[in-house]
Amino acid sequence: MGLHNKISRDQLEVGDHIYVWRKLYAYAHHGIYVGDNRVIHFTAGDGNEISAIIPLAGVLGGSSSSSSSAGSGRRPCKTCGSSGSASSSQVVRTCLDCFLRGHKLRRFEYSNRRSKFLLHRGGTCSTLQSDPSDEVVRRAFYLLRHGFMDYSLEGNNCEDFARYCKTALVPKPDKLPTASGQLLAKRAAVKGVKALIKGDGLHQAIENFKNDKFMCEDPDNFVRKEVEELVAELPQTIKSTSAAI
Ligand SMILES: [Zn+2]
Repeated sequence: MGLHNKISRDQLEVGDHIYVWRKLYAYAHHGIYVGDNRVIHFTAGDGNEISAIIPLAGVLGGSSSSSSSAGSGRRPCKTCGSSGSASSSQVVRTCLDCFLRGHKLRRFEYSNRRSKFLLHRGGTCSTLQSDPSDEVVRRAFYLLRHGFMDYSLEGNNCEDFARYCKTALVPKPDKLPTASGQLLAKRAAVKGVKALIKGDGLHQAIENFKNDKFMCEDPDNFVRKEVEELVAELPQTIKSTSAAI
């Protein structure tokens, strides 16, 4: 579930939080559509996308990270110039095709009902409200110019970037290491399985799962921080330059 937020290019609207599944739904890459066939998104170094991971892999004790180097070393795109070969964590602007890499376009949903949110796979929707599209796009461009911290699977990934642009909400340091829905869903699933193994019962395991999943939607766990304030707090070492025009 939650795999069906597929949209056509005609349905795209400026300020949309979009994503693509890679590797047979193993992980997703997220970005903000800013119009004119361009997407602003956050990538790790070496042209890799390291994104939120498949919950089942975590449950089964699999790798805690997933990456793709498919974009590394590509010829520069004729449309946007991107070669997918950034050497460090970077906010980039590419054309939609470079973002999609042949995968289906999907839109992350906001303002979902809690019941619907619970049924969807983590990292595909939120109960939080999106800000107006012009604010979303302004934040994305500001972070394109100034950077968005270091890329970290657990603490700061492409989904966190897109959610921040949409909401200006930052997780409180003592509450959550990340706002990423996929990571939190994975943690909840792991805890649910552990509860079952401990003999806590299916009902308790489901309650634990719901509580953990809703944790990433609880306004008390976030603080609102405008983009200028966020960037002002970044370490000086973090700079971003646009990898593509
Ligand atoms: Zn391109």
